[in-house]
Amino acid sequence: MPRTADLPGSAAPSAAPSAGAEAVLAGLDDEQRAAASAVEGPVCILAGAGTGKTRTITHRIAYGVHAGAFVPEQVLAVTFTARAAGELRSRLAGLGVGGVQARTFHAAAMRQLRYFAPRVLGGPMPALVENKLRVVATAAARARLTTDRTSLRDLASEIEWAKTTLATPEDYPARAQAAGREPPFDAAAVARVYASYESAKQRDGMLDFEDLLLVTAFALEEHPDVARQVRAQYRHFVVDEYQDVNPLQQRLLDAWLGGRASVCVVGDPNQTIYSFTGADPDYLLGFADRYPDAEVVKLERDYRSTPQVVGLANKLIGQAPERKSIFRLKLLGQRAEGPEPRFFEHADEPAEAAAVAQACRALVEAGTPASEIAVLFRINAQSQVYESALADAGVPYVLKGGERFFERPEVREAVVLLRGAAAGGSDPGMLVPTVRDVLASTGWVEHRPPPGGAARDRWQSLAALVDLAVDLVAEDPSTDLPRFVAHLAERADAQHAPTVQGVTLASMHAAKGLEWDAVFVVGLVDGVLPISQSLSRPDAVEEERRLLYVAVTRAREQLTLSWSLVRNPGAKRPRPRSRFLDGLVPGSSPTAPAPQRKPKRAKVVLEGEAGELFERLRAWRSSTAQAASVPAYVVFTDATLQAIAEARPTSIQELAGLPGIGARKLDLYGEDVLATVGE
Ligand code: ATP
Ligand code: MG
Repeated sequence: MPRTADLPGSAAPSAAPSAGAEAVLAGLDDEQRAAASAVEGPVCILAGAGTGKTRTITHRIAYGVHAGAFVPEQVLAVTFTARAAGELRSRLAGLGVGGVQARTFHAAAMRQLRYFAPRVLGGPMPALVENKLRVVATAAARARLTTDRTSLRDLASEIEWAKTTLATPEDYPARAQAAGREPPFDAAAVARVYASYESAKQRDGMLDFEDLLLVTAFALEEHPDVARQVRAQYRHFVVDEYQDVNPLQQRLLDAWLGGRASVCVVGDPNQTIYSFTGADPDYLLGFADRYPDAEVVKLERDYRSTPQVVGLANKLIGQAPERKSIFRLKLLGQRAEGPEPRFFEHADEPAEAAAVAQACRALVEAGTPASEIAVLFRINAQSQVYESALADAGVPYVLKGGERFFERPEVREAVVLLRGAAAGGSDPGMLVPTVRDVLASTGWVEHRPPPGGAARDRWQSLAALVDLAVDLVAEDPSTDLPRFVAHLAERADAQHAPTVQGVTLASMHAAKGLEWDAVFVVGLVDGVLPISQSLSRPDAVEEERRLLYVAVTRAREQLTLSWSLVRNPGAKRPRPRSRFLDGLVPGSSPTAPAPQRKPKRAKVVLEGEAGELFERLRAWRSSTAQAASVPAYVVFTDATLQAIAEARPTSIQELAGLPGIGARKLDLYGEDVLATVGE
């Protein structure tokens, strides 16, 4: 146990809150204060973006420490990214609290496991799998699958998903189907790779990231002495962004708690954006059921954004189909009025990017620091056109949570191939087809984006190279391959220039928890947001809506949303604007909810005399139904009418022998039916 030495054995919490404790609460509003001062039992803060959840938990910890309820070393605050953990630590330091552990689930588990490894694993801490794809590749080869880098990445994602949702290889096929996964191979094959991946790891005595959590939970569950020691060390738990906890992390949290209830969770169900990796907001929504004596606090005042931004966010999430209605969170903007959010439609992507770059430049020239501006997009492949446009406009930028375009392996590989092709000379006027040919040699098929997230990312990156060629030819039809390659090199150099302070380019996922004065949310077309692979599943489309909600709620003051009709200049078929903007763009109305589909009924096809009789029977049925004010099927179903038309009964006995005709119906309609048949 890393900190056992500093464990203050009998720190008796003192009773009366100190002046310091009261001062900590002064920076909070009433509801935040209620949550922060509830230091005893379970606490759940369910609140929307920008309402001060992160602020409240740091103040709660500080208050608990100042009030003597918490010993700092006994508090473990967990979150999901190293950046967020660092943010928690620095905010706590700002409140004069040292010694509190603020870590990611992984870092906390690693630390504990390293200490307990000899006891629970019978040796030193096992090595961590460094090159996961290599292990997956071996496992895939053993399962006789032909793979490439992309399908390996997608296989690795499936294995990760299975492990975070606590599914074994045997469980995988059924669970994957139920969850609507789109594995790169059939589910049984993925399960074989998963099983073989696990045994390879075990054989080599290695652990992957998910194992860290799993083995730590196991150590606590199965080793009473380990559990006793860890639980003596950590007595109070706090989890930020709890809507994105997955079953594996929850299992570890439960193991840490060991039935105790000093736990505070905060989250926003409307910001659940990691369901596809196994996160489950039901842990947040069901917290009060699991802890009936929990203090549940809702925060509604948004301190981050102007009322204009807040209004748009409310409208957007208000259009989501009702889920657990009691948790519908509405935000109240607390800041001074600001500009209305703006919407722009552009002819094509380069035009959209150029406009955004110009707007960034204007903001910077007017005094907004570049670091207070962000451009947010749905997929990393979208960054290329913005990287170029900002470089052209002379605006520095930093890329978050993604590789720079020219550093992506597929782009580097393609550039090498293009350079090789250029060395062989090229025909003027043939640039675009030549680029396509070269890319096709890597297995890239235009107009056919493959299934699977990583595969699609790779496909999009290469498509972006073709787009660039199309752009250059549009500017100057004489551009040939050597010029194109030289241009790529220039772009790559310009973008490799280190930037200290710049406009943030980030995916919407990477933007979670952050805030900027001005935010541009770009590329808002159907098929990108919601992303095409989500379109077949309503729950996946809703996750996309939440992603847009996360994006728009990052803006403090200025919010600009844009889309372009086509990707490449000159393309013909326009793309529809994102459906989520209907009802937000002034003058538009919300998309009607998908119509309830009527259950399909088999259409009856009867020919000749039977068909004619069937029609007569239907006519009789509809007048009878009308007279009795009942729906037609209450009289007889189509199937029954069909049976009658085929059998042509001439007596009540014969009629009684047909399916769907009971005594009551015989009484009511028998004579009429026979008369209709006899006509
Ligand atoms: P998200 O859901 O996006 O993570 P959050 O609920 O965690 O948001 P915070 O980041 O804690 O929100 O707060 C948003 C902004 O509002 C921060 O700049 C924070 O300092 C400020 N803020 C929160 N509460 C108050 C308050 N009571 N008084 C003044 N400022 C506040
Ligand atoms: Mg937060």
